[in-house]
Amino acid sequence: MNTATSPDRPLLLGLTGGIGSGKSTVASRLAALGAAVIDADAIARSVTAPGGSAMPAIRAAFGDAFVTPEGALDRDRMRQQVFSDPDAKQRLEAIVHPLVGEETARQTRAALARHVSVIVFDVPLLVESKHWQARVDRILVVDCLPDTQVQRVMARSGLTADAVQRIIAVQATREQRLAIADWVIDNDALSLPELISQVDALQARLQQARAAVAGSPLPYPVGGV
Ligand code: ADP
Repeated sequence: MNTATSPDRPLLLGLTGGIGSGKSTVASRLAALGAAVIDADAIARSVTAPGGSAMPAIRAAFGDAFVTPEGALDRDRMRQQVFSDPDAKQRLEAIVHPLVGEETARQTRAALARHVSVIVFDVPLLVESKHWQARVDRILVVDCLPDTQVQRVMARSGLTADAVQRIIAVQATREQRLAIADWVIDNDALSLPELISQVDALQARLQQARAAVAGSPLPYPVGGV
């Protein structure tokens, strides 16, 4: 049977939230509850890590000087290059993007083969990407006040408040995230155990949504399994 259109196909859930919102904590809990989690950032990093699938093409296109001794993309070198040669960014993306797409589809097919009930797409740039928005059935946003984001990220990383604020300033705004949300977890006045309980409480709604999309084609067609 083709899982992609079967009555028991999984719900494809997009997950997003600003830095420090609690998105990774929510993704981990969803995974513990049996969802497959596909981490877009991790995939993007993995193709340019040592031995990553983009590395042979990057070495061929840019030369050994852009590859670290370990075999990863030399990010500092590439950043300098992109600064002085705007074309370099496009050439890099032309190599990296298709490979990220392939790996994302591969992981999605693997999740379909496991017959999970929910596949979570942890995509920080969901707001910016109409393409990603169209690939999922529902969107869950983890929300909190910018001050809370700053406090959490400072505690986690040792970055200064200014540095965290600069990161927040280039990310989508709360309003933009909330505008695409089907469900919102308000992770402001919650303790960590309360956040976990909120994710657990969402299970019933995820299963209802899964029933509602049963039999409809997957919004992200990745081929049969
Ligand atoms: P994101 O993936 O959105 O950057 P994380 O899930 O990594 O966020 O959370 C950022 C930090 O804040 C982590 O150290 C996490 O343990 C902590 N955190 C998240 N939510 C809460 C909460 N409700 N109460 C206390 N700490 C929290």
